[in-house]
Amino acid sequence: MPTTLPSPPQAWQRLSIPSRPLSPTLSVRRALPVPDRRLVGAWTFLDHIGPVPAEAPALEVGAHPHIGLQTATWLFEGEILHRDSLGTAQTICPGQLNLMTAGHGIAHSEEGRAGALHGVQFWIALPAEAERIAPAFEHLPELPSGSIGGAELRVFIGQLGALRSAATVHSPLVGAELRITGPATLPLRPDFEHALMVVHGELRVEGEPLVPGELLYLGGSREQLRLQGEALAVLIGGEPLPEPRVLWWNFVARDWETIREARRAWLAGEARFPEVPGYPGERLSCPDLPG
Ligand code: MN
Repeated sequence: MPTTLPSPPQAWQRLSIPSRPLSPTLSVRRALPVPDRRLVGAWTFLDHIGPVPAEAPALEVGAHPHIGLQTATWLFEGEILHRDSLGTAQTICPGQLNLMTAGHGIAHSEEGRAGALHGVQFWIALPAEAERIAPAFEHLPELPSGSIGGAELRVFIGQLGALRSAATVHSPLVGAELRITGPATLPLRPDFEHALMVVHGELRVEGEPLVPGELLYLGGSREQLRLQGEALAVLIGGEPLPEPRVLWWNFVARDWETIREARRAWLAGEARFPEVPGYPGERLSCPDLPG
């Protein structure tokens, strides 16, 4: 019988995350996409929001459309009120997940509450067979948590060890919050590619330092990860997508024609992107297409 040696772990990539002011008091660090990394599994977008001090004006993102993706919002501190064109009005608090599936089209708004705010928002690209599904929203008030290999974890998407999130996803994925207070060894799926981002504190990853402001892309073929330090971090991973994605404004697709059509439908006020009931502000207008 032929024997197969396990592949060595792929080389990792240390990516610096630019900070982008959304307003004079709110800056966001966009960890994905960055020029050298567009996707980690189906994870296509990652914003690290804040920490925003309590005296800053509340975050408000007016009604805007999405297609071809799921948005996953996860907070460490503060609250955000989500409203969408399905009629949802749902406040999210730390430790809870808001997961919105845009599919063929949805519109939503996000309103922070007065007070401190700190969190992450992810976009997950839908696989080709799910990119035009009907829009949906789910709120998970509790996510599985526990200790694995010396790390305290809360798994909000997919599964890690025995911890499995009930969130609906359309491709094999993992998304987890990690609290590290000493040495830990995380089991990883070698068929996934992974990335790790520290949001507070400092970690050593296989001995190498990792601090906020960096995304560490870990590649695939990795069965475990040795961590050490005092930190709050997020781990994402998944099966690599077979095709790249075009990401423009709030749209994710496999080709520009799909993006152009969604932009046209939003500007025309078509039923594909209905009003967001209860949102008192204006719809966001969309930028010009490049070229
Ligand atoms: Mn959005």
